[in-house]
Order: sequence, then structure tokens, then C-alpha cells
Amino acid sequence: MIIVLFGKPGAGKGTQAPLLAERLGVRTLATGDVLRAAVRQGTPRGLEAKGFMDRGDLVPDSVILGIVKEELALPAYAPGVILDGVVRTVPQAEGLRDNLADLGRQVDAVLCFDIDNEEIVRRLSGRTVCESCQSPYTGRDAGTACDKCGGKLVRRKDDEPDAIRNRLEVYEKQTAPVFAWYKDHGTRVAQIDAVGSVTDVTARAQSALGR
Ligand code: AMP
Repeated sequence: MIIVLFGKPGAGKGTQAPLLAERLGVRTLATGDVLRAAVRQGTPRGLEAKGFMDRGDLVPDSVILGIVKEELALPAYAPGVILDGVVRTVPQAEGLRDNLADLGRQVDAVLCFDIDNEEIVRRLSGRTVCESCQSPYTGRDAGTACDKCGGKLVRRKDDEPDAIRNRLEVYEKQTAPVFAWYKDHGTRVAQIDAVGSVTDVTARAQSALGR
């Protein structure tokens, strides 16, 4: 089962992905997490991505498709995958389709988490993430410890107000059209109300998947 989680930055994809993955018995693949790890390790891919990420711009499609191709070929993803933060452009949708076709697979469903911009700004400006395991938190101070792994909570550079504004503009221009692309190509799509408790949103997503 291959599921794409779709929606604005801050819609809750990173919170919902591991919860859904656990219930469905599959792994998650979050391109943002892979890129942040590459930046921390100072790899060539990280060095290429850093400037784009700090501004809240999209990293080039070639970089993203390289990550997706490498990862999805791993046996760990054989039972399925929840894709978090990819697909973000139409060329990525096309590239993913071709990669999956080579593996005899396809995207089974796209879940779009709906939320308005005011709520996004509120969430992202109050968000911290664990430096080690990347778990996101709302309303927890930077410098405190992650509940899951004890790592340090930090603020993301791209959660600063200018970068948030830019990320929302980038979403409208480059990412929003991807949802229509999937609909037009006959993929099952569902819109999920992303406002509410974490458990309510997970339940809505699960029921949209019929699981
Ligand atoms: P995220 O953690 O999903 O919010 O991603 C953080 C940042 O990583 C984004 O603002 C982009 O700069 C970059 N990024 C992550 N995934 C993608 C993608 N699929 N396409 C382009 N850039 C991405």
C-alpha cells in the first residue's frame, strides 16, 4: 500500500504519518527528514539542499527523485509506505509514477489534509521539533527534551515568519496542482479535515482509507 500525504506545511503530515504507518504496518518516508539529516551530516546532497530549505523554497526535483528512487528500492518498503512531504510538484508526481512502475507498483491513495493559513501560521510559529528523531511538538519550548527519544527540541529555521509565508506561496503555486494531477490520473484521493485532535484526524484518515 503506497499512500501520499498531501497538504500545506504545518497541516500535520509529519504527526499523522507515523501513526498511520503503525496502524497499517508500513514504513514512512519523509523527504524533509532525509534532507535535514543530509544537511546535518554535511553530505553533497545536504549542501545542495540547505539554502533552498532555509528560505522555504523547494529543493530541485532531481534531488528529491534521487532520494525517492534510492529509498523505495529498499526491501523495508516492500509492504508499503506512507510518503510524507513528497509529492510536491507535478514533475515529482510523474517521476514517482515512473519509479514505481519500474518496481511494478503505483500510488494507491492520496490524502490531502485541509487547513486554513491562519491556523498554519499559528501552528508553525509554536512548533518545535526533536533534533534527533524529528518528532514535531506544538507549544513546547526549544531546549526541552523529546518525549520519544530524549533528544533536544529545537525550532526549525524555516518556521520563521518570512519562511512560513514563502512556504505557503510555494505550496499554492507549485504543490496545490499536484492534487488535481492525481485526480486526473485516476488515483483515489480524499480530503481530510486536519483541524481537531491528533486522534480525531488519524481516525478520519484511516476511515478515508477504508481501514
Ligand atoms: P518538510 O519537513 O516536509 O516541511 O520539508 C522541509 C523542506 O525540505 C521543504 O520546505 C523543502 O525545502 C524541502 N523538501 C522536503 N520535501 C521536498 C519535496 N518533496 N520537494 C521539494 N522540496 C522538499
